[in-house]
Amino acid sequence: RRQTPGIMASFLEISDESRGHELSLFCVPKHYEEDLDSVIIPSGLIRDRKCITSELNLQPSSSTVPPAMELRSEFKQKTERLARDIVRDMGGHHMVALCVLKGGYKFFADLMDFIKTLNQNSEHSSVPLSVDFIRLKSYSNDQSTNCVKVIGGDELSALTGKNVLIVEDIVETGRTMETLLKLLHEYQPKMVKVVSLLVKRTPRSSGYRPDYIGFEVPDKFLVGYALDYNEYFRDLSDLEETITVSFGLRRR
Ligand code: 5GP
Repeated sequence: RRQTPGIMASFLEISDESRGHELSLFCVPKHYEEDLDSVIIPSGLIRDRKCITSELNLQPSSSTVPPAMELRSEFKQKTERLARDIVRDMGGHHMVALCVLKGGYKFFADLMDFIKTLNQNSEHSSVPLSVDFIRLKSYSNDQSTNCVKVIGGDELSALTGKNVLIVEDIVETGRTMETLLKLLHEYQPKMVKVVSLLVKRTPRSSGYRPDYIGFEVPDKFLVGYALDYNEYFRDLSDLEETITVSFGLRRR
C-alpha cells in the first residue's frame, strides 16, 4: 500500500554525509565497544522527535546536520506531538496499536506513553486504546530476504472494524510492511495507519512510505533502541535514556 497521494509524512533527515557522533562521547557497554562505529541518533533526539508536528516545515538538509542538541531545542519550540497527529487522525475511535516485535518494542512503549498522556490531559477528546503484538521475520544476519514470515501474534480477526496503528522500528525495502498490510486487510479493519521510527534511503526501496515517519536515515545498518543484529545490541536500549540509542555498525 502506497501512501495517500498528496499527503507527505514529514520526517527528520539524517543526511548521507552525516558521520554521526563520536562514540567515545557516549556511554557504550563494554561488550559492544569494538563493534560500533558511531552514534547516529541520540536517544534524547528520538524522544523529542515524538513531539515534532507534521505541520513543521522541515527542509531536507543538503550538507550537514546541525548537532543533535541544536535540533532538539529548535524543534521543541514549534512542536505538536507525532502522537497527537496520530490521535487526531484516529478520530476518537477505538484504536488498536499493533507493535511489530521485536525491534519495535522500545519505540512502541515510548509512543504509547505519549498517547496515554494525551488521553489523560485532553479536555475535548481521547482515544480508547488497546495494544497487540505481532512478530515478523524478514532478515537473516544484516540482509533483507524476500521471504517475510509471520511467526507470532494474536488472532488477527480481533482487528476487524478497528482503527489499527502499526508501530514499526524501521522500513528498508518496504516489503515487510507491504506484506503485513496485505495480510491485515484480509481482516477488514476500519482504518490502518503505519508509524515507523526510521525509514532508510535506499535504492532497494519498493516506494512504500509509512503514514508517520520519525527519521529518514542513510543506507546503513543500524542497531540499538531495540534494533538488533542477530539478537545482539537490543540491550543498548537499557542505557540511560539521555544517551545513545542508534549506532552504525562497524562490521558493514
Ligand atoms: P524491509 O522489509 O522494509 O526491507 O525490512 C524491514 C525490517 O528489516 C525491519 O522491521 C527490521 O527488522 C529489519 N531491518 C531493516 N533495516 C535494518 C537495520 O538497519 N537495522 C536493523 N537492526 N534491522 C533492520
